[in-house]
Amino acid sequence: MLIDSSEKVDAIVIGGGIFGCAIAYYYTKNNPGKKIVVLERNEICHAATSRAAALVTRIRSKQHFIPLSLETYRAVAEMEKQLNESMDMKRVGVLHVAASESAVADLDDMMRIADSFNEPSEYLTHETVKAKVPWLKTDEVLKFGFIPDESYCDPYLLGTFFARCAKMNGADIRQGVEVNDLLMEGNTAIGVSTTAGNIYANAVVIAAGAWSPVLAMQAGVGLPMAPVRSQYWITERNDIFPVDSPIVLLPDVQAYARPEGGGLLFGIREAKSFTTSPLDIPKDISDFSFSPDRGVSDLSEVIDKLGCFFPAVYDIGLKYYIAGFSGYTPDNNLSMGIVPGIKNLFAATGCAGAGISVSGGVGLAFAELIAGRPNPYDFAKFSIERFGKIDPFSKVWLDKCALARSQKRSG
Ligand SMILES: Cc1cc2nc3c(=O)[nH]c(=O)nc-3n(C[C@H](O)[C@H](O)[C@H](O)COP(=O)(O)OP(=O)(O)OC[C@H]3O[C@@H](n4cnc5c(N)ncnc54)[C@H](O)[C@@H]3O)c2cc1C
Repeated sequence: MLIDSSEKVDAIVIGGGIFGCAIAYYYTKNNPGKKIVVLERNEICHAATSRAAALVTRIRSKQHFIPLSLETYRAVAEMEKQLNESMDMKRVGVLHVAASESAVADLDDMMRIADSFNEPSEYLTHETVKAKVPWLKTDEVLKFGFIPDESYCDPYLLGTFFARCAKMNGADIRQGVEVNDLLMEGNTAIGVSTTAGNIYANAVVIAAGAWSPVLAMQAGVGLPMAPVRSQYWITERNDIFPVDSPIVLLPDVQAYARPEGGGLLFGIREAKSFTTSPLDIPKDISDFSFSPDRGVSDLSEVIDKLGCFFPAVYDIGLKYYIAGFSGYTPDNNLSMGIVPGIKNLFAATGCAGAGISVSGGVGLAFAELIAGRPNPYDFAKFSIERFGKIDPFSKVWLDKCALARSQKRSG
């Protein structure tokens, strides 16, 4: 479709991943009659979003994420009604496993956090856990905490639910349209130039995932995040992986797992996470080779630690390998809000591996911000200015962000 080169809308979102689609959903819902355009150069939700393990964790040690994730659950219920379809969220709960004194202390904190958000939680005995999670070796475990209402989902479905509802509400979601440049007038963003012409708007949101720093740099802003690889495997089917068994978080070995189609989906944090400059990522993520050996050498480095809890890992067949880029920061926080020093420019980036979970809150926050209303959440910890001036393409910066992921113990 050829777009009128003088087209003017109220808001432009660059990137049709889950953040872009969620922003469009809330913006159209809360601002009837206003025009928002989402520009996606490939197909919506095909990049990080469709690759997520999609733990939609609400209760976390980083308590400022929790209200954002609670909003995601609220949005799911609302969109199910709007579309008259089920999202089929898998409400299997999260089992926190603590096998060291420090993990026990963290677990006790987590249970207190659950209480303070009125989220049901209970400590489980070894016997109960053995029955619920047959693949888990429990001998070395000191304490189990269970939060039963936590879920995982199909992340592509969640992203496209946001997009479909947004479209029904009047959003214009254009696939196959690439943003080449931000259009600036002094220190004000006034629109974008695309492969299908220029579009002008009162607000421009960069929600371009791993590629976001490339766009922000056009406005002279070093966006503080780096694309860092996340990877996981899905085993072949086996009776030791009941489909309704919980998500399992193993902070002592920096691993997580959940059921997937009769097998087990499990991910690890490598001793040194892989990162690359946003400038070096191809436009279509399917053209990027994340690992020549499907992560096997990374898995071998940690397999003995993991094997203490998941002994079947040595023999079970690995059917699928999935990898993608999440946006990380040195403090494992989101990196988002109003872009400092630039009028009408916003960035919804740096997901810290939690973008599916927090998508509802992120969508609502930006819908309000770009409509000129106050952010309903406190984004102080996500501020784009918090690291001072940084070069998002430098090795020093990329390594700092990758290290943060390597050291992450929580889910
Ligand atoms: C392996 C893996 C496991 C994960 N597990 C979880 C999990 O369990 N729970 C959780 O909450 N999160 C998880 N995540 C994180 C989650 O997937 C991301 O936080 C989320 O998908 C980020 O969404 P996004 O919209 O920012 O980015 P993306 O989905 O990557 O979307 C960005 C879009 O912008 C488009 N784009 C870029 N540049 C341009 C341009 N110039 N013009 C037009 N379009 C452009 C891209 O094509 C892309 O579609 C995981 C991620 C990975 C990779």
